[in-house]
Amino acid sequence: MEINLISDTVTRPTKEMLAAMMHAKVGDDVFGDDPTVNELQVKVATMFGMEAALFFPSGTMANQVAIKLHTQPGDKMYCDKYAHVYNFEGGGAAFNSGVTCSLLNGKRGMFTAMQLKQALTDKGNIHLPYSSLVCIENTTNKGGGACWDFEELKKIKHVCEENELKYHLDGARLFNALVAKNESPKQYGALFDTISICLSKGLGAPVGSVLMGSKLDMQKASRIRKLFGGGMRQAGYLAAAAIYALDNNVERLVQDHEKAKDLAAVLTECDFVKHVEPVETNIVIFTIQDDIDNDFFIAKMKEKNIFFIGMGEGKLRMVTHLDYTDEMHQKCIDILRGF
Ligand SMILES: *Cc1c(COP(=O)(O)O)cnc(C)c1O
Repeated sequence: MEINLISDTVTRPTKEMLAAMMHAKVGDDVFGDDPTVNELQVKVATMFGMEAALFFPSGTMANQVAIKLHTQPGDKMYCDKYAHVYNFEGGGAAFNSGVTCSLLNGKRGMFTAMQLKQALTDKGNIHLPYSSLVCIENTTNKGGGACWDFEELKKIKHVCEENELKYHLDGARLFNALVAKNESPKQYGALFDTISICLSKGLGAPVGSVLMGSKLDMQKASRIRKLFGGGMRQAGYLAAAAIYALDNNVERLVQDHEKAKDLAAVLTECDFVKHVEPVETNIVIFTIQDDIDNDFFIAKMKEKNIFFIGMGEGKLRMVTHLDYTDEMHQKCIDILRGF
């Protein structure tokens, strides 16, 4: 039995999801004619109370199109030093949009409105890159699945409004935060200019992300998506999986969160473990004692059929998900305890 905790992206579609895909009505989405893609877009926009939504092949592309949408080459965007848009999108902000990132020194991927305020530079000074965008991530990936305090997000919004900055949410795992904190999609829809969500993470679809925002912004985003090569044809087969995921796999995220908390508790008791980050959702980040090499530890666990990865800076990460069963969970706990 292979226990894969590398990411919540490793899930495979269930029979029921595959059936939904097989029966999807499709058309050419580049012409706006795919009824299932249209259904998904309306469903997501309505859920978040936003005007419009667009289906994307990946979360990276959804974020990159949002950055392009909100900036001009030479501009500056603000994000946490752990941000996916900065660390894990291949330098896309610079490559695709010619944008500089100003990194904020947050905690677990989350900065404060005060930190943002202090980092802001004068838009009138021609020496300085022009500030145009703030991007936050909820839950934070490299921050260990941490959830933002909604009040802080509102304060950041206020800073954005005062300084004419656009506000983008990388919500690859937003549903984990919504479930963990009992928040509603509409709260978020009311706060941000654009939001990206992933269906291919904890929700278990094989492919797909959605970007949402105003109708005008999504018209522009549609053009940029085409420019970036992300216009898809009979994408309804994929949108059907996304619709199935939204209808069936949101509430069950609590189970992933419980399992992650169990793993954190077990790791905390292991003497080879140095530190375990607090767990709020489905990501466990931990470090091991200095005299054990990370790659050696990963390889040893691999021999026991447990797969996970490092996140840089000595951090190791385990992610729970839909395909991580109760049986695997028990086995994983036993192996960790016996290591
Ligand atoms: C996974 C992820 C994305 C997008 O990833 P894709 O693999 O391109 O779909 C964006 N932001 C965060 C925080 C993520 O974890």
